[in-house]
Amino acid sequence: MSLNPKRTVAELKELRELTADENGAQRLAWTDVWQKARKWFATKLVGLPIEHHYDAAGNNWVTLRGASEKTLLIGGHLDSVPNGGWLDGSLNVLAGLEVLRRFATEFKGKPPVTIRLVDWADEEGARFGRSLLGSSAFAGTHSIAADRVRTDKDGVTMQDALRRCGIHMDHFPEAKKERANAAAYIELHIEQGPVLEKLGLPLGVVLGTKGVERHGITFYGQEAHSGATPMKQRKDALAAAAKLALEIRNIAGKHSDAVCTMGSLKTFPGIVTAVVGRCEATLDQRDLDAKVLAQMFREAQEASKRFASEENCTVEWSRIWNIEPIPFHPHMVELCEQAAREISGGSHRLPSGPLHDAAEVSRAGIPTVMMFVQSLRGISHNKIEDTREEHLEMSVAALDRLATKTVDWILKAN
Ligand SMILES: [Zn+2]
Repeated sequence: MSLNPKRTVAELKELRELTADENGAQRLAWTDVWQKARKWFATKLVGLPIEHHYDAAGNNWVTLRGASEKTLLIGGHLDSVPNGGWLDGSLNVLAGLEVLRRFATEFKGKPPVTIRLVDWADEEGARFGRSLLGSSAFAGTHSIAADRVRTDKDGVTMQDALRRCGIHMDHFPEAKKERANAAAYIELHIEQGPVLEKLGLPLGVVLGTKGVERHGITFYGQEAHSGATPMKQRKDALAAAAKLALEIRNIAGKHSDAVCTMGSLKTFPGIVTAVVGRCEATLDQRDLDAKVLAQMFREAQEASKRFASEENCTVEWSRIWNIEPIPFHPHMVELCEQAAREISGGSHRLPSGPLHDAAEVSRAGIPTVMMFVQSLRGISHNKIEDTREEHLEMSVAALDRLATKTVDWILKAN
């Protein structure tokens, strides 16, 4: 065994030194800093018995050929949000690299199955508002026509930004080739939430990524003078919206992992002397169970109609975006749980609220699982994002253990 989790922590610090400033990580996809991170990563591959290439969507592939063409994929992303943390995405890549090194050493350059490490392009979508770009090209779920005309805050189109990095969006479909022989996908990630810390557990097993229903809700009442209009005769659109803002806590509260958020509320005319005639709200609902998600959506709609009528208003809904829940592979969830327990003595199963590249891989029909390592204070996408070093080291060892178990499973399945 040559696994060296301390080396992963040291490399994470090296990457931070190279690509962060006083506000945090600046590895925004398709920028010079991001490319610098990728070049630095390439220097870590020197001397390894691997093949290295970028695919048609800019995903960064490292392949260690095995005795079998059947392939275990290990993934992560070197890109970050602006002012991001030092672990989100890069832990996955550098832990994966350590696992790949271990396989290369232990099996003298030829493990029983092929091992491939992928650094997905533009996981965060921070610049163009389109997350999971590279992995969606891999999965064949990309939306080239809609994406190429997206612009960043300076008006640069996605198409132009990618071309600058040598990527032509018309060629995205070719990234699907990388799916050949993929038998399983594993991804380690920081939790980015407070659950594992609260339970006092270093590691958790991710059951899947939650489905999302995201809607705009507009209540219509009647603008009226705040002094002249008696309370009983008002059509107050804000009152109806306010009732719904509280009711969504009951709607989500019936289910252990469900969440509902009313994140934005605008009132019109929005002046101190007028009853609110129109109120525009947003609602974001998430759960791992499609039935629960559908029920919450229905209940929120019914409640909005009830509150609208109580306040003599009307209500209209419009869908902003949605995605179905993506549960991970049940047997791989088992393997991940075993690995976490063997390394850290405990484990907890939890769904992921944030989306991850693993969701796109799973959608492509490849058996997938993710492992979470505890995040301190549950904070991420922030320069204060952190995880205890001993937990980082455990997570590398657990990813390695999961890789071994998955390779055994791939071999047995043939
Ligand atoms: Zn991430």
